[in-house]
Amino acid sequence: MSENESRFQAISHITNRKAMPVATPEPLSKIWATDVFNLAKMEESLAKNAFKAVKQTVQTGVPLDAIHAEVVAAAMKDWAMSKGVKFFSHIFYPLTNITAEKHDGFIVTNSEGNAITEFSGSLLIKGEPDGSSFPNGSLRMTNAARGYTAWDPTSPAFIMHTENGSTLMIPSVFMSWTGEALDKKIPLLRSNAAMDKAGRRVLTLMGETEIAPLNASCGAEQEYFLVDSNFANTRPDLLLAGRTLFGASPAKGQQFDDHYFGAIPTRVQVFMQDLEDQLYRLGIPAKTHHNEVAPGQFEIAPYYEAANIAADHQQLMMTLMKATAKKHGFMLLLHEKPFAGINGSGKHVNWSVANTTQGNLLDPGSTPHDNLNFLLFCGAVIRGVDKYGPLLRAVIASASNDHRLGANEAPPAILSVYLGSQLEQVFQDIKEGKIATSTKGGEMDLGLAQILKFERDPGDRNRTSPFAFTGNRFEFRAVGSAQSVSGPLVAMNTMLADSLNWVADALEVELAKGNDQATAALAVLKQLMELHGNVIFGGDGYSAEWHRIAVEERGLLNLPTTADALPYLRQDFIKELFANTGVLSNVELESRFEVYAEQYMLTIEVEAKLVIEMAKTLVYPASTHYLADLAMTNASMADLGVEMDNTIPTSIATETNAMIAAVAELEQAIAKHDFDSIEQHMNFCANDIRGLMDKIRSHADALESEVADDLWPLPKYREMLFIK
Ligand code: ADP
Ligand code: MG
Repeated sequence: MSENESRFQAISHITNRKAMPVATPEPLSKIWATDVFNLAKMEESLAKNAFKAVKQTVQTGVPLDAIHAEVVAAAMKDWAMSKGVKFFSHIFYPLTNITAEKHDGFIVTNSEGNAITEFSGSLLIKGEPDGSSFPNGSLRMTNAARGYTAWDPTSPAFIMHTENGSTLMIPSVFMSWTGEALDKKIPLLRSNAAMDKAGRRVLTLMGETEIAPLNASCGAEQEYFLVDSNFANTRPDLLLAGRTLFGASPAKGQQFDDHYFGAIPTRVQVFMQDLEDQLYRLGIPAKTHHNEVAPGQFEIAPYYEAANIAADHQQLMMTLMKATAKKHGFMLLLHEKPFAGINGSGKHVNWSVANTTQGNLLDPGSTPHDNLNFLLFCGAVIRGVDKYGPLLRAVIASASNDHRLGANEAPPAILSVYLGSQLEQVFQDIKEGKIATSTKGGEMDLGLAQILKFERDPGDRNRTSPFAFTGNRFEFRAVGSAQSVSGPLVAMNTMLADSLNWVADALEVELAKGNDQATAALAVLKQLMELHGNVIFGGDGYSAEWHRIAVEERGLLNLPTTADALPYLRQDFIKELFANTGVLSNVELESRFEVYAEQYMLTIEVEAKLVIEMAKTLVYPASTHYLADLAMTNASMADLGVEMDNTIPTSIATETNAMIAAVAELEQAIAKHDFDSIEQHMNFCANDIRGLMDKIRSHADALESEVADDLWPLPKYREMLFIK
């Protein structure tokens, strides 16, 4: 069967597809968190003191002692076995954007040859996968290959089912033999602790006496594409790179805006509901789903949770999304830019910090007292984005997200903060000294009436901002759809910790002058705005004018590619930020730079090889086949005395030759290996290799619109995006 036949077969398979049999839906109350060993289940099965100990660990992060861990392990095993589980696995989060697991049976045999089950506290607490098989950058050097996984009791264990078996999954951290973080969870936990410590300093200085532990929260909106597997399986680029490397734009794309929030296709809705039921069983609070802007694009958003749990749930959700889609005959694409010419996919990371005594510190609240805390925390975020913008850009840098950022559909690669007009005015007034404090009749008048009137305005949205305040949280909108949310959360927590420490230092100075808290806070905020107010921007982030102003007048950085952004992880001010807050040592940070740089270059290298292969083995044969047909037709027509117009064959020949010439150039480029530094190599990938890939694509796409449709081997955009 030739390739083009498989394309037509795919269409016929989809057209004649029978709806998948689905289970009758069950009520939420019956399925919610049934597969999670959460606090409620522990309370049922644990003795009072053991439950108290584990609950304290879950709620405050204090370590769980060995005796109680033993008790929890036993209860966890019993619970899992009662649900038919025979295997358990530590699940951990290496530096790739996916999860890793190593499965072990509960089974051991005794001297009589009987199978018994065993699961001790020590097995629960520590596992020992081979560290060398995971990317670890320069940490590879440190004491060979050994790596440890260790139970994170703050994230609940859960059961994953397949048709004929179930496995108990235990969320874990992953570290090297020498104790360095090799994963995305350890820095997330550390950054939360650093933010908590700095936040308490500020709240204490502001006169708060009772301060519960502060925790970051995260709610992530996940965009994705669905393509029928019959199409996806005949596209080598979708299979291996997760995006189309070729494909001419269809006559109809998203220009009618008819997909966004439109009626969800039934087949997709069935998939979504199936997915959501699985998420509910795992205690993942899926909340909204809808069509997105591009045809074939959708979004799912769970309700927000504590950042550490949200990050684990996000990973689990991405895994389940792909697996469930497959069951429904779709390939689910998490890639940030699967199709050229239509919108790509992002992951908006909604982030706030809160505790049980002061509530959400990014919520303006309804009293002046709340307002001051809010203004200080919000100000601290503004300072963080200004000072550490390049870090925020670096943690969302990837070969795939580079296609989306700054492409006039997604936030620019310049980090600025959007506050909304009212709040921006409040901060401007503070900067200009227009908001003062006074004492009237013994009662403090904070003069903050205008802040009190501050209203959350959901209509006041700026879709072009990479980092926007949305009423009671910040929304980091530049994060890529395929990325783990941990990197962005670590960056936000850590920059906030640093800024809150700066605020606390400055408050101490102001308070030492004998100022009251309100006066001190406003003086600190005035200073902060003078130093960092330039990062606030409420206009059109897509405009060329902003790109000029941001760089020339505001001193902000425009870092369009990963090659521009990642090297910031090696700069002193970023190294100091992580070392001072205790989130990542210099060695750990350097290893991350190396791993991410390597992933970036490998991704581009794989794509480049695919481009060469597809151009040679799919596009070239189709074009030459058509040329041969045309030549034959023209010769026969000439025999009849009819002269055919040669425009099309000439154009096809020209494009084909140009494509093949570019392929030769790309082959030469990927053979180059002598680079002076990682940075130089990354730049070569970003500019030379990518440039050549684009060049080949432009010729191939031109050919797609000229070669006879029945000879074209690859499913076309219109088919993949519109046939469901
Ligand atoms: P929109 O599309 O309007 O931005 P959604 O409702 O789709 O909003 O998603 C908003 C996300 O933000 C949800 O995951 C929601 O739970 C989350 N969220 C709401 N409040 C907070 C908060 N205080 N902190 C963190 N995330 C929040
Ligand atoms: Mg949003």
